[in-house]
Amino acid sequence: MKYVSTRGGEAVSPSLAILRGIAPNGGLYVPESIPALSAEDFQKLLPMSYAQRAAEILGLFLTDFTREELMSYTAAAYSAEKFPGGAAPLVKVEEDTYILELFHGPTCAFKDMALQILPYLMTASAKKNNETENICILVATSGDTGKAALEGFADVPGTSIFVYYPADGVSTAQKLQMITQKGQNVGVSAVYGNFDDAQTGVKKIFADADFAALLKENHVRLSSANSINWGRLVPQVVYYVSAYLDAVKEGWITYGEGVDVAVPTGNFGNILACLIAKKMGLPVDRLICASNKNNVLAEFIETGVYNKNREFHTTSSPSMDILISSNVERLLWFLAGGNSADTAEKMQKLNSAGIYELDEGMLAALQADFEGGWASEEAGYEIIRRYFEGNGYLSDTHTAVALSLLDAKRQKEGNRKKTIVASTASPFKFASSVLFALDGVERESTPQLIDELAAKTGVEAPAPLVGLDKREIRFAGTVEKDAMRPPVLQMLGVEQ
Ligand SMILES: *Cc1c(COP(=O)(O)O)cnc(C)c1O
Repeated sequence: MKYVSTRGGEAVSPSLAILRGIAPNGGLYVPESIPALSAEDFQKLLPMSYAQRAAEILGLFLTDFTREELMSYTAAAYSAEKFPGGAAPLVKVEEDTYILELFHGPTCAFKDMALQILPYLMTASAKKNNETENICILVATSGDTGKAALEGFADVPGTSIFVYYPADGVSTAQKLQMITQKGQNVGVSAVYGNFDDAQTGVKKIFADADFAALLKENHVRLSSANSINWGRLVPQVVYYVSAYLDAVKEGWITYGEGVDVAVPTGNFGNILACLIAKKMGLPVDRLICASNKNNVLAEFIETGVYNKNREFHTTSSPSMDILISSNVERLLWFLAGGNSADTAEKMQKLNSAGIYELDEGMLAALQADFEGGWASEEAGYEIIRRYFEGNGYLSDTHTAVALSLLDAKRQKEGNRKKTIVASTASPFKFASSVLFALDGVERESTPQLIDELAAKTGVEAPAPLVGLDKREIRFAGTVEKDAMRPPVLQMLGVEQ
């Protein structure tokens, strides 16, 4: 299988798409076609473990990797040691509501699902392409990707990683997780501004030919671990397939029965992976795209107008505080039937005017699969309390956005379709907001709130979040958004 850039150009192998992260023309890599599975094919995966299912599905997309290679990566990435609570367990919280818990990895957010395996895919991709330079991963994070990428790449030979996070845009736990990261090949810095500032800054570094030349002299090439990298997306397809099969296995649905899937969305990577699972033939009906007060996607799905010219809100679901959702570019390419000129034109408009619009045909295609909506801060808090009091289920603030939207949809439509809700983070990562949701008391955000939340709810805090405040702080710096290059050079030991 070959991969093409959403903005046109030559097709490349899966491993080169992963190694590059982003196409030379600034586009994102997409598979030329999506493998279709029959009901029988899907059901063959039923008796398998998560790691086996993952190797099978990855093998359909990553055709220049052997099954043995992929099996060795998935076995290591999704081991019980890395995911003590299971890789992606599906929990039934109501008769028709199943929560897909994606936060049992080392950093307690769903980013681990891809970033635990990406280092294996990346280093193998380098070898397959005779790449002898060291790979330096640059990451802009809204909080969770940064830590998951650091954890995945720390001390992986032949790689280094530098992470930028918005100075005021992440939770206390998220920040402490990042600035205490261990490893010889890692670096972290805050950036004054919001996530879009950090992400735009990183995109500029990727596009900077002089910087690339300087790195090349020092035997380094840049790559990306953001969800613009196909190697981030494809492991996420797996858990939607796996969740559906688990629901069949438990007898909650019968194979072939359509389910809806609700996803708390920011950069649009997670929900795009679900679209790909649907395109493979998984019986998914509606994709429910849930936004917080930064509701650019909700409006886009409703009207076909993508307009980033709006106020940016800092919310209690910071990993969704995004106005430029990178993976919408891949969606546009699918909606345009692979017309890369159309996608490139829309991205150009987004870049210059901050707005573009779908024609009627593309809007109809979008709405055939997706519905969008957004939840206010208050609605999010209310559903956290209601779920805990009603079902004994403790949800994080991001998952709450999806639960809230689902609740509103069910009330409005007066029926209750069976729905899988992607749960993207442990509630303990956002302890102050979750505590506030439960009792309405505002607290100063400190690491001790993790223990307080555990004591108050009787839910055990995940081990990686316990004792965060006792770890050594290694990266306390903050840079201006136009001064993001020097700390990377410093990490790499390049003279400036
Ligand atoms: C990253 C993240 C999201 C958004 O996921 P996208 O793939 O960027 O849409 C939602 N919730 C949490 C907790 C996250 O870390």
